[in-house]
Amino acid sequence: MREGSLEAPTRHPIPWQEEGYYDEAALDAELRRVFDICHGCRRCFNLCDSFPRLFDLIDESPTGELDSVESKDFKPVVDACTLCDMCFMTKCPYVPPHEFDLDFPHLMLRARAIEFAKGETSFPDRELAKTDRNGQLASLVAGPANWATKRGNMLTRPILQAVADIDVRADLPAFADATFEEQAAASGAAINAQAPAYGRKALLYATCYVNFNTPGVGLATQKVLAHNGVDMAVAHPGCCGMPKLENGDLAGVAAQARLVAAALEPAIDAGRDIIALTPSCALMLKFEWPLILPEDPQVRKLAAATFDIAEYVVDIAKKEGLAPGLGDLAGPVAMHFACHSRAQNQGPKAAEMLRMIPGSQVSVVERCSGHGGKWGMFTKNFDVGIKIGKPAGRALAKDTPAHVVSECPLAGVHLRQVIETIPAAPVPDRVGHPIELFARAYGF
Ligand code: SF4
Ligand code: SF4
Repeated sequence: MREGSLEAPTRHPIPWQEEGYYDEAALDAELRRVFDICHGCRRCFNLCDSFPRLFDLIDESPTGELDSVESKDFKPVVDACTLCDMCFMTKCPYVPPHEFDLDFPHLMLRARAIEFAKGETSFPDRELAKTDRNGQLASLVAGPANWATKRGNMLTRPILQAVADIDVRADLPAFADATFEEQAAASGAAINAQAPAYGRKALLYATCYVNFNTPGVGLATQKVLAHNGVDMAVAHPGCCGMPKLENGDLAGVAAQARLVAAALEPAIDAGRDIIALTPSCALMLKFEWPLILPEDPQVRKLAAATFDIAEYVVDIAKKEGLAPGLGDLAGPVAMHFACHSRAQNQGPKAAEMLRMIPGSQVSVVERCSGHGGKWGMFTKNFDVGIKIGKPAGRALAKDTPAHVVSECPLAGVHLRQVIETIPAAPVPDRVGHPIELFARAYGF
């Protein structure tokens, strides 16, 4: 629940195709209007590094007010925003429909869009945003790619830092030998025709991360849903464009939205629900794409048909009931409620799902992990990302849970590294996805 207002936040379409969106004087005026409101409010002081940077800037200025801060000094505030949406979704009482009409993340996005339009986005940022191309190439040579990118490889990682600005200390996600699409085609999970949800049809939108890095999340989803009677197809027509959004490349996001929405439309028309296997991608399909292409009927149709994976399992449980067979998990679970799951405004569905396992004890940690997609990998952000993730890491490691999970696979990699930095904290072997635990409870 958002603090300070009972009304649900709404968001305006992003006028990225209008010339005025890129007007630097108009942006500066809007930054000053919003920053002044934030200066008087300060609720978001501990959400991320953007707000502390802003408040220090104002407090250390000659007058202690925004009027004596130069606009050129706003850039570090913009740079520190990971577009996690937490200020908008959980704190700000001034979001629309309030008359202040304040949307801090989308204002940071506009500043990034202007930088992108001026060609100021860095080469590593632009190249790392091509996640489907990078994933396709890396999965062809997964062994050498994983060797080269592994933390501790002092032959290759300093070169990666010098060339791509990826911090030598950052744990990077490994690539799988075979994509989820390939493994799903081979696995052929049998559909349980006796299950109450038999008759449901879904399409798993693989997402770049599950397709190229963690196919196990997709395979676990397949097993759970097939056991519950759901007929499934799998597709990965392209990236959702979240890394391009982080760069302010709104035309790039729109192109991905059009491509994916057109590719998935026949499945929706055939009665399939669309399940996005990564929360950032679900957020894009459900909420960001319709704000970027509000008039596109295929994008709107896809948004209405899309579920987050835990949301879908809970939907089955509530409407038809789950297939029997859930066993004990053998120990408590600490679950990270990822920002982009929270931003979907659906409540902690993964915790709800895990609590349906008999005897489960699930504690939920609602703090940001600090990874911010590719943001936390860069040398200029790595230490800040670890610092932001510390409260979440401490809470997850408290009382040495048997299982630590996060709905966001990238956050999982980062949180494990955060926990390593906390003295005497028990470091989990891996921070997996809640659906993997759920599959395990079914005995898969
Ligand atoms: S969107 Fe997230 S990172 Fe950006 S300013 Fe808001 S809370 Fe901070
Ligand atoms: S974004 Fe809203 S809640 Fe956060 S500091 Fe600014 S005005 Fe306050």
